[in-house]
Amino acid sequence: MSCKATLRREMIEKRKALSLKNGEMFVKIIKELECYKKAKNVMLYMPIKGEADVTGLLGDKKLFLTPVTEGDEMYACRVGKMVEGAFGVPEPSDKTPFDKKDIDLVIVPGVAFDKEGNRMGFGKGYYDRFLKGMKAMKIGVCHAFQLMDKIPSEPHDVKMDMIVTERGIWTKENI
Ligand code: ADP
Ligand code: MG
Repeated sequence: MSCKATLRREMIEKRKALSLKNGEMFVKIIKELECYKKAKNVMLYMPIKGEADVTGLLGDKKLFLTPVTEGDEMYACRVGKMVEGAFGVPEPSDKTPFDKKDIDLVIVPGVAFDKEGNRMGFGKGYYDRFLKGMKAMKIGVCHAFQLMDKIPSEPHDVKMDMIVTERGIWTKENI
């Protein structure tokens, strides 16, 4: 646990130094993925604290969802008029929940990922609870320095199917 907490702190500090620009590479790479082209309902996140910015996808002809948190729970709502939500993250003002079974692809932020598809978040486990049991394709997005060989993981951590950095993509097949 302390190992996980120390790494989480280090990575958050390192990322904060980055500005939010340069999201174009992530967007360009994601747009070329077959699983993205095929997906109708795509969940993505609004970046904070230097997270990789994928909001450039929002002009595409798809239905976009984004997380809303309430207490310990996280659910998906359609992107629309945005207001400031918990943790300073923009969230839709219309908080009608979208059925997560209908989401084809989830683009997941992270503090660090590893080459086994493990993910570390801010330490509250929102995505682990949300993604549990979901059939949607899960793509972690991060800056290349956040993709490590191995990070500590626990049984409740939900693995990614693919990781995208500005340098390219990682999947189980290409390592
Ligand atoms: P993060 O994924 O944000 O890095 P952790 O994986 O450390 O954070 O999870 C934080 C906490 O969230 C865990 O200690 C656990 O109590 C809780 N948690 C995560 N997944 C679940 C789950 N599926 N059911 C219940 N609690 C969970
Ligand atoms: Mg976790």
